[in-house]
Amino acid sequence: MEQPLPSAKDEVVEITRALIRIDTSNDGSGAASANEAPAAAYVARLLAEVGIESRIYESAPGRANLVARIPGRDRSLPALILHGHLDVVPAAAEDWSVDPFAAELIDDMIWGRGAVDMKNMDAMILSVVRELARTGEVPPRDLIVAMFADEEAGGLFGAQWMVDHHPEEFAGAGWAISEVGGFSTTVAGTRAYLVQTAEKGMAWLGLTAQGTAGHGSQTNPDNPVLHLAQALARIGEHDWGSSYHPATRELLEGVARLSGTTFDPADPTPQWEALGATAKFVTGTLSTTVNPTVLRAGYKDNVVPSAATARIDVRTLPGVHHETIAKLQELAGDKVTVERGIEFESMQAPADAPLVSLMGELLREADPGAEVFPYMLPAGTDNKALARLGVQGYGFAPLRLPAELDFTGMFHGVDERVPVAALHFGVDVLAALVRRF
Ligand SMILES: [Zn+2]
Repeated sequence: MEQPLPSAKDEVVEITRALIRIDTSNDGSGAASANEAPAAAYVARLLAEVGIESRIYESAPGRANLVARIPGRDRSLPALILHGHLDVVPAAAEDWSVDPFAAELIDDMIWGRGAVDMKNMDAMILSVVRELARTGEVPPRDLIVAMFADEEAGGLFGAQWMVDHHPEEFAGAGWAISEVGGFSTTVAGTRAYLVQTAEKGMAWLGLTAQGTAGHGSQTNPDNPVLHLAQALARIGEHDWGSSYHPATRELLEGVARLSGTTFDPADPTPQWEALGATAKFVTGTLSTTVNPTVLRAGYKDNVVPSAATARIDVRTLPGVHHETIAKLQELAGDKVTVERGIEFESMQAPADAPLVSLMGELLREADPGAEVFPYMLPAGTDNKALARLGVQGYGFAPLRLPAELDFTGMFHGVDERVPVAALHFGVDVLAALVRRF
């Protein structure tokens, strides 16, 4: 008797668990900050098993990026990139109720680092393309599967490196889907799915104040600690203004409708309340934000040092990146220099694209009565790197979640976990998407 072929649903849980058990923690320390190679090798085996050839590119020893292309029926259509990152942020095991790398199944959920960010979606992508390959189905357009290293440290050894060194792998690509979107949040009893259509820009800047070193007992008009403190105070007090990106406005108007509240742009508090825990994912999108994160100076109580330094994390709204950096340079003053480090401009993909309409259609088919809204992510994803090639990227890792689960709180959080039922829902929606787009 013939055995039925395994489907995406049969495999997604085990693939998620296997990926979590491969520890790819990225501590952000540079070239040797993570080792994604064993995870990439596992992915290559999964693809080879069903006849999909893939290529692995190492940006540094152990920093593996994998790409595979599945030819579609109409090769003239812009290809769809399905991408994920293989690294995870570190987990402090003592804070967790389970071993973060054991991928235990408890209460019908998979527990472990990466269950949410984003080995769940990696597994959904892999199980869907394996299902397609097994049945011999050819998708309407080329699919490019990409599993990147280093997303958790800005992608310099991952997506950014791939775009710089192997853009040919993404030739003809027009669209991309990946993490941080497509999940449900419950607003006044209705499930609302948030599709990420925009990302704020970012800049990690260093501030250095130079001064005159000396004895701590003497008058010192050129103390670098004070120069730096004054610069940070000016930066902290600056009003960056606030404005509604069209995606944020559409989201809040939708939330107002579902919750029976009135949207007043001057005070969206009722909508934040209706969004509950998910609100913290979106409140940062109303304005450009600047947060000092690291401060260093001095080594002894009675010695004035010759320099003081700080790091600041800048997240910019679309269209104001360069003016924000210029303003920061001005606010820093003439005693503090600003060094530019990792910097990415914001990203916006059209919210009215046919791909987004299809996402909405599929979500409503799979979850009748659900609502679908766009939103802007205050942080960033690898879509920013692909945007440099003209690819329109969206956050769409579809998951139907229980109302009581604080899903957005689990990105980089403790006891990260994903319901098995949500993964089953996700592969159905994702499989339908690649078949119909
Ligand atoms: Zn992620």
